[in-house]
Amino acid sequence: MTGVRFDNISKFFGNVRAVDELQLSIESGEFVSILGPSGCGKTTLLRMLAGLERPSEGRISIGDRVVNEISPADRNVAMVFQSYALYPHMTVASNIEYPLKKRRVPKPERAERVRRTAKLLQLESLLDRKPRELSGGQQQRVALGRALVRDPDVFLMDEPLSNLDAKLRSLMRAELIQLHRRIGRTMIYVTHDQLEAMTMSNRIAVMHDGRLQQFATPEEIYAQPVNDFVAGFIGMPPMNLIEGKLCRDENGAIFRRNGWSLNLWGTSAQEEDSEQAVRIGFRPEHLLLTDSGDEARVTVVEPTGHELIVVFDLQGNRIVGRLDPELQLKPDDVVKVAPRSDRIHVFAAADGRRMNTTRPEA
Ligand code: ATP
Repeated sequence: MTGVRFDNISKFFGNVRAVDELQLSIESGEFVSILGPSGCGKTTLLRMLAGLERPSEGRISIGDRVVNEISPADRNVAMVFQSYALYPHMTVASNIEYPLKKRRVPKPERAERVRRTAKLLQLESLLDRKPRELSGGQQQRVALGRALVRDPDVFLMDEPLSNLDAKLRSLMRAELIQLHRRIGRTMIYVTHDQLEAMTMSNRIAVMHDGRLQQFATPEEIYAQPVNDFVAGFIGMPPMNLIEGKLCRDENGAIFRRNGWSLNLWGTSAQEEDSEQAVRIGFRPEHLLLTDSGDEARVTVVEPTGHELIVVFDLQGNRIVGRLDPELQLKPDDVVKVAPRSDRIHVFAAADGRRMNTTRPEA
């Protein structure tokens, strides 16, 4: 079993800092997703781990071995890409067998390992087919098989599901979770799809502009984002983020904007009498209809079947709520709303950093 460690890793392409002083320690057997928007450095990080790119600074270790100077072939990692890149003229069996052939594994052992891999991925009945005779999901399983057959210490996957349709993606997500459970190997999965990261990972590393923002469990990232970038990036519809001033009175900290004020739990202003520019955040599911709330006008109603996504105008602030689908709301209705007081996140406007803790789920 083999963990992975990035020690102060940076990668420059000319003036571009693709990865910036990244520190990350992945435990043996963990499923970790590297999540972030396009261009944040995810693929570069993975390619450095595979040995396809050299770090400009820092050390990468796989297990207790520093691998900076070790060739890709000797790192015992396997990479699965978005494009399956199967050999079209070879059968499924030959495609899976190919990496073993290249490594001159003896024929009887190759046959046994192909058989085992095909069983694990439920490809046994497809072994004689050519890639063009397979569905997208089946082709992706063959690509996984080709990685798996090598019995690598670490699996690297770069957006492996992005060519599949929504239904197949959800099936493949479940398959990958099961596969990870069965083989128990370290898996590192690059994606910009938060749903994939949230559903499959033991921990998620959120990146932005080449920098690691937060490395934590999906639950923690959702409930306690460390800054306003993570807060806004995770969650759909996204968290409401509203800029205003944090003030203090005898009752504690208060958020003010456009004549709207909210008491904030667990937040302390920097100095008693000063005002501080902040951004508060609360998730759409934490917006409540309540008589003690403030008047808000409905601007858009989006029924999805299992919920009602409602956009409100609250004193000039755009706020999104996720409400009961049986509510009869329509544009221009005026209702009273308030965020759950124990679910309001407060971030410093200057650097985006979190300033409070929200109460744990009861
Ligand atoms: P995506 O989700 O779009 O694949 P990513 O998060 O994987 O994005 P990277 O491909 O790692 O991002 O790229 C990070 C940054 O480094 C980007 O600004 C990209 O343009 C730049 N970059 C990546 N590879 C090279 C290269 N070979 N030469 C120059 N710049 C590069």
